[in-house]
Amino acid sequence: MGRRFGGIPVSPGTAVGRAFLVAREWSPVVPSPVPPERLDEEIGRFHEARERARGELRDLKSRMLRVLGEAYAGILEAQLLILDDPALVSQTVERIRMGRVAAGWALRETVQAFMRRFESLDDGYLRERGGDLADVHRRLQRLLRGGQGGRAPLPEGPLIVVAHALGPSDTMILAREGVAGIATDVGGRTSHIAILAQALSLPAVVGLHDLSSEVRTGDTIAVDGDSGEVDLLPDREDLARAVARRDAWTARESAMAEGRDLPPVTRDGIEVKLRANIELPQEVSAALRFGARGIGLYRSEFLFLSRAPDFPSEEEHYRTYRELAEKVAPHPAVIRTLDLGGEKYFHEVLDRDESNPVLGLRAVRFCLTRPDIFRPQLRALLRAAAHAEVRAMLPLVTTSEEIRLVRAILAEEARALRERPVPFREDLPLGVMIEVPAAATTADLLAREAAFLSIGTNDLIQYALAVDRSNESVSYLYQPLHPAVLRMLRFIVRAGAEGGVPVSLCGEIAADLSLTGLLVGLGIREFSVTPRAVAAVRETVRRLDGASSESLAARVLEASTAEEVERVIRGGAPRE
Ligand code: PEP
Ligand code: MG
Repeated sequence: MGRRFGGIPVSPGTAVGRAFLVAREWSPVVPSPVPPERLDEEIGRFHEARERARGELRDLKSRMLRVLGEAYAGILEAQLLILDDPALVSQTVERIRMGRVAAGWALRETVQAFMRRFESLDDGYLRERGGDLADVHRRLQRLLRGGQGGRAPLPEGPLIVVAHALGPSDTMILAREGVAGIATDVGGRTSHIAILAQALSLPAVVGLHDLSSEVRTGDTIAVDGDSGEVDLLPDREDLARAVARRDAWTARESAMAEGRDLPPVTRDGIEVKLRANIELPQEVSAALRFGARGIGLYRSEFLFLSRAPDFPSEEEHYRTYRELAEKVAPHPAVIRTLDLGGEKYFHEVLDRDESNPVLGLRAVRFCLTRPDIFRPQLRALLRAAAHAEVRAMLPLVTTSEEIRLVRAILAEEARALRERPVPFREDLPLGVMIEVPAAATTADLLAREAAFLSIGTNDLIQYALAVDRSNESVSYLYQPLHPAVLRMLRFIVRAGAEGGVPVSLCGEIAADLSLTGLLVGLGIREFSVTPRAVAAVRETVRRLDGASSESLAARVLEASTAEEVERVIRGGAPRE
């Protein structure tokens, strides 16, 4: 008997295939108390988890030896040594006994104390061992929760990824061949997974509550990313209906791609540039298919997350950026430097205990404190720009000083590259994202220092309206059309024009077709949106009349509330 689930549709289209259930790997570790008479048993559980981890690592090591050779197997040897480290073992046991807490918590506390020491070390080799410790820690926590090692083999055919939640470390699964759709128990409209699903053109539904506990890998499942319905083990009729919807959607997608060579110009001749936002290099083909003229935002976080707990090497950065830019040549590829932190991406290098991470040490602020992570990325950008139209972009800039500090590092790295000697581009274009109200209201000053400005409305709205972009209970206040936001957009566009630097818009609102006219009217001439949205925005721009868009923008700027703005856009007048 089939079952139908209802959730929140976050990425359109229909997918039908076999479920691939992603196990819940990370549930939070909490300090659960253990009664004194059960402490020995708890310590026994810890040793048992170590024993099983040892078995898994040995098994993995012999497989790696066969496939990849000595060097890689050496990493696992280091992890085996950590597992038996006398200080790690004795301190964890002592914490269980003295604190009367579960092994998971005691281990977490011990590992964190070790990590702090590793991070303060100057020696690169020893610091690297911190990454191995984090990996061992993850493995032990999973085993303490009773999880099995490894993932089940993938079923054949199109896959629907089903999970309770998909964290950043799981997102690589989505880039695998054969993945056709996504369904998760939790998540909201602006969650990270929603953005990624749209970017990959994968139909997705989130907020399905208990779906993942009902599904088994291999079950037939249909995901409707327009209605939010998910059919598990559908009967013949429902399956046929879903397949028909999927075929219609695929046909629509191809039709959209057909207009890719038409210029995005309004009826009265205003030219607009359309670029793509991507997170994975694999998305470049979709960007080109839908006619994007270059990449307006490459979120380099994924390059980092795919290597976690290690960091990409300069070579990896270089190869990725060069390849990306060569694929979209002669158009540019704008690479955003690491934007870790806040509510979106978590990485072990960040401080888990920051009391307010959205206002904390994130993005360019974090990078400026970690030259060991930042410099290889900047060096690679300088080098890649020697071969193709690569541009660098800094996230979450708040002051001009940050730009100057980055320029100083770039100058130092350029000197070093000259000495190596390695080809690089002296005048790498360095742009900034406008995501903080301070940056928006000083856009004229930032324009003196930056090669271009790119408005990140996802964050700008959050900071301008003091509304957490992922908190459902205040989502009613997440108002892209709030007069504060519109005034900032207007100001930034003018600041760019007066300073002679291009301004683009790369937040999600750039893909909202009901706003395209207003945005063009406000003076936005460059949009960066998900690959498939490029086609839809192009069609919309081609139907616009620039002069009417400008008069719409003028009327909208008179309105006092988001609701009034909406009414003006729909054709009504602002309230007197
Ligand atoms: C933004 O903030 O608008 C943006 C484009 O960046 P991200 O969504 O990655 O924060
Ligand atoms: Mg942002």
